[in-house]
Amino acid sequence: MTAPLSDTFDLADARGWWFVQRGREVLLDETGGVPCGPNPLLGLDPLPVLQVGEFDGIPCFAVELPLDAPFGGFFGDPKRLYDSLPLPARTPLSRALEVLEWDRTHRFCGSCGAPTEHRGAAIVRHCSNDACGREHFPRVSPVVIMAVERGEEILLGRSHHFPPGVYSVLAGFVDAGESAEQAVHREIFEETALTIRDVRYFASQPWPFPHSLMLGFQAQWAGGEIVCDPREIEDAAFFHVDRLPKTFRFSSTLSFWLIQDFCKRHGRPWPDGV
Ligand SMILES: [Zn+2]
Repeated sequence: MTAPLSDTFDLADARGWWFVQRGREVLLDETGGVPCGPNPLLGLDPLPVLQVGEFDGIPCFAVELPLDAPFGGFFGDPKRLYDSLPLPARTPLSRALEVLEWDRTHRFCGSCGAPTEHRGAAIVRHCSNDACGREHFPRVSPVVIMAVERGEEILLGRSHHFPPGVYSVLAGFVDAGESAEQAVHREIFEETALTIRDVRYFASQPWPFPHSLMLGFQAQWAGGEIVCDPREIEDAAFFHVDRLPKTFRFSSTLSFWLIQDFCKRHGRPWPDGV
């Protein structure tokens, strides 16, 4: 991060991309995209603004707007915005959302309890207690997401909160002290009682809801029959590439890329989705 950052940064003349979050929503322009141009919040009481890098040579600003601020802009679902943006533009949105989440949840030092503060050029909150002096940086939470294959079949499962009939590849958080590969083996075994082999890295993506880093893997079934853990998933099964169930069609997600890659390698079209 090379750009300046300050709680009192004078933004009266600032032009840039404006990532303005209010509650669970983000400010959109008239086309449903990220506002780009002069500060859309001029006229309101000054708010802390974080400069979170640049996109296309234009600075990116992240602002948290209080729910009761008298502002009449149009707001929308950040997940829908994320899905609608081209791949490169998802990076500044991810960074803005994750930095805002970190900023709002690290106002006090987790070590000594004193207030924290920004001190200039970096995305870091400093403990105001000189005897402590800890620095708090944004953290990401790694999640593994994996396509387990058995010949022309792929393992898919569904959570209790999925729409009816919709399945996806399995996923889970990496535990403290664990490698991503270990997490892949553990999650599959915990959720389905299956063992797997040939775990290979596929791709990664930021998932700023609120601060995950998705790590995608492909693996082969090694043994066992599926026994679902009902605390984790409602159902799981191997589906033949010609008989796939409904899956999520958000093209921005690793689950989409993994299933798409599986279909492509077997020479099949993308299945029906939701
Ligand atoms: Zn402290």
